[in-house]
Amino acid sequence: MSDLPEAFQVEYPHARKTHCCYECARQILPGCKHQKYSGIWDGEPARFRTCILCATIRDAVNKLLPRGEDPLAFGELGQYLRDCHSDVPHAKEWLALLQDKQLSFEEQGRHVWAVLDLTDPKK
Ligand SMILES: [Zn+2]
Repeated sequence: MSDLPEAFQVEYPHARKTHCCYECARQILPGCKHQKYSGIWDGEPARFRTCILCATIRDAVNKLLPRGEDPLAFGELGQYLRDCHSDVPHAKEWLALLQDKQLSFEEQGRHVWAVLDLTDPKK
């Protein structure tokens, strides 16, 4: 799905049941804050749930895209980082975080905040 939605809504709810992140396929456990993106594409409603860390990486990558280029489609973050290694700052680090299923959210979060040079919001 690469077209922009005709209408959309972004929310950051706490999960009521277990979901699967559309980007990294990790489980979003009950109580976990995550991004819920609901929209209408070609007249059809769709909804994507993304863990907060993938949503953060995707937002960071979208800001780096050339002007006028559509934002990344859902589920294409990993592929984009693989294809555009040299164009995207930190692409290798982002990709490693997406693919390292051994990292806990806590550990992954520390890496994400560090690469973005942000302070962990929980501290
Ligand atoms: Zn994720």
